[in-house]
Amino acid sequence: QKGQIRVHTENIFPIIKKFLYSEHEIFLRELISNATDATQKLKTLSSIGEAKGDLGELRIDISIDATEKTLTIADRGVGMTAEEVDKYINQVAFSGAEEFLDKYKDANIIGHFGLGFYSAFMVSEKVEIYTKSYREDAKGVYWSCDGSPEFELYEIDKEDRGTKIVLHLNEESKEFLEADRVRGILERFCRFQAVPIFFEDKQINNPNPIWVRKPSELTTEDYQNFYKELYPYSETPLFWIHLNVDYPFNLTGVLYFPKIKQSYEIQKDKIQLYSNQVFVTDEVKDIVPEFLMLLHGVIDSPDIPLNVSRSYLQGDPNVKKINSHITKKVADKLDEIFRNNRSEFEEKWDSLGLFVKYGMMTDEKFLEKANKFLVMQASPNPSGGGALKKEASDITPPPGEKEGAFYTLEEYKIATETLQKNKDGKQVIIYTTDPIQQDAYIQACVAKGYIVVKLETLVDAAFINNMEMKWEGVHFVRVDSDIVDNIIDKQEATESVLSKDEAEQLKTMFGKEMHNLHVTVEVKGLSPETAPVIATRPEFMRRMKDMGGM
Ligand code: ADP
Ligand code: MG
Repeated sequence: QKGQIRVHTENIFPIIKKFLYSEHEIFLRELISNATDATQKLKTLSSIGEAKGDLGELRIDISIDATEKTLTIADRGVGMTAEEVDKYINQVAFSGAEEFLDKYKDANIIGHFGLGFYSAFMVSEKVEIYTKSYREDAKGVYWSCDGSPEFELYEIDKEDRGTKIVLHLNEESKEFLEADRVRGILERFCRFQAVPIFFEDKQINNPNPIWVRKPSELTTEDYQNFYKELYPYSETPLFWIHLNVDYPFNLTGVLYFPKIKQSYEIQKDKIQLYSNQVFVTDEVKDIVPEFLMLLHGVIDSPDIPLNVSRSYLQGDPNVKKINSHITKKVADKLDEIFRNNRSEFEEKWDSLGLFVKYGMMTDEKFLEKANKFLVMQASPNPSGGGALKKEASDITPPPGEKEGAFYTLEEYKIATETLQKNKDGKQVIIYTTDPIQQDAYIQACVAKGYIVVKLETLVDAAFINNMEMKWEGVHFVRVDSDIVDNIIDKQEATESVLSKDEAEQLKTMFGKEMHNLHVTVEVKGLSPETAPVIATRPEFMRRMKDMGGM
């Protein structure tokens, strides 16, 4: 049979080529996912008794022939009869491609969409199909098309069931004759595809990745090994969440909390998005909330529309639901670890804190839950020698012994109840940004029974400003600010061993030296716990300076 492909556009191939300019390599993902679909269909048919007999080894083989300039994808799936080729290739696939182009001609398309079978023409001057259906007495079928709307279709002898697609690569696509290039694409797109894929006699995929398995069957080692498989050079993750939802949308995946201490270590775009084990993208910006992009791992959902532009994704109701579901899961997991295993939670707070704080600042729902498990670590007590001395003498605390206790907001409020209320009745959280440099101030506070917490990482400055707006009745004050002294009665500070004159003299002396820093100098006396002279400056001035103002 010879015929004309029934499309309205005279010749859609130049248009296809033009639109798919940026990511030609996607053709391979499309053809392999068709081969995978065909194989899965066969398995289903066999399980309900529709496909008879032994199915043999179900695998997909990719091969290149440099002299013929061909790239071949062969599967042992359901195959197609002549009618099916006519229906699915000549009609459906073509009209699908045309419809797609009609719809998105003006959209800003940046890759990541499926044009299905016809993406083969991005890289080929001619495409051939050799296929044989699984049906009893099926005949082999040959189809070919050279990029014009004309095709050939006739019966052939074909021994085995399944479909072989032969691409005669065009002049600009010779790169796909290089084994390394092809292997690279396969590893990127087909790494976890559900059917074994062989290239040059080596299997390149893991068809049974952990996210498709039952959590009850998996060990800690399985999760850690999978993490290593995804990110070979990373440290062991802190913990992970196995996602498994089938209502109101389908979503599976494993998200890992990486070990990070500083925000500059964060690598975003580490989450990979799959659709039925087919790699879609590692730019998940519009699919997961911004703060969750700090996590690593895999999300797999057939419900995320793949063949549309990015701006469309943002408005998609499924994407929104997926978004809030993942947020909830992550918050619940953290809450669970906090309640069931608080010491582990605290041990990992260095890495976790950054993530939790970022989430609290950017996501209202997460904030609500995280208020219960956000912790702040107190600076060490001077009875242990003080932060400075401890550091200097290099004494490490005995194993298991904490540097300083951890407080949730609620616990901090209870522990500091009346003592740390300012005159507006607000609870004052006293914090240090540098326990070593601010040691004298910390010790002075500790001597008064205050609790000074460490908020010293890069994210903390923003976090403090943000929580002051969100946490009602709470006020943050840095340990070296003058307000700390105003929390309680000044009287206490007058117990000085110096005479009034001596004290004044000292004050003037220090004041002069530090004049340009807008400090208040106070002479404290010579008790062994406290520094003899304390210079403080108003919290607002320091914050102005931190923001670049003064
Ligand atoms: P989609 O995969 O979204 O249905 P495609 O354009 O990729 O669209 O494929 C069109 C149709 O051609 C498929 O639905 C299937 O019926 C048929 N087809 C494509 N490749 C194969 C194959 N390797 N084996 C069997 N059928 C196939
Ligand atoms: Mg397809």
